[in-house]
Amino acid sequence: MILPIFAYGCSTLRQPCTDVQTNDSIVASLIDDMWETMYHANGCGLAAPQIGRNINLFIVDSRGTYEGLEADQRQDFFDENDKGLVETFVNANIVWRSGRVWTDDEGCLSIPGLVLPVTRSWSIKIEYSDQHFVKKSRFFDGLTARMIQHEFDHTRGILHTDYLNSLRKKLVKSKLKRVSKGLVKSAYPMHFSKR
Ligand SMILES: [Zn+2]
Repeated sequence: MILPIFAYGCSTLRQPCTDVQTNDSIVASLIDDMWETMYHANGCGLAAPQIGRNINLFIVDSRGTYEGLEADQRQDFFDENDKGLVETFVNANIVWRSGRVWTDDEGCLSIPGLVLPVTRSWSIKIEYSDQHFVKKSRFFDGLTARMIQHEFDHTRGILHTDYLNSLRKKLVKSKLKRVSKGLVKSAYPMHFSKR
């Protein structure tokens, strides 16, 4: 089922998340719905707060991006052993981030039309459970690590706009207001704050 994506301004995007406690059919079907919602919106990641659920759950697909790049571009964005990742992250925790950082443009399904440069670590180590609740501890690099860091941030109430300096924050303020009021077009269903 395609779910509406909660837009900038909705309180769930700023609230803390609680851990997923049970591995049951309700969680499994929520994960299925998140994949369907993300692919329908042409996204490469989606976190539970973006569908109005404050639980520690997000999904990432960097494989589609990998496959869409020319071979010579891949080395700029992906580690040589990374051919893209399709993964569900339950109760994830980033336990290490590299000092090596890089800056690249990021979009967010909750803020359509706003692409911003964000500086993030090239490599991370993350502990999580997958969709079968199998515990994992893995390192990721490059664009895969970037997507994971973006979605992980959502489970901590952090948005990519938070990384802007105060001048750039002023520049995007009116755009964000328009998003929160539902005045921007999106190619997928969205939910807006009623404030
Ligand atoms: Zn986002």
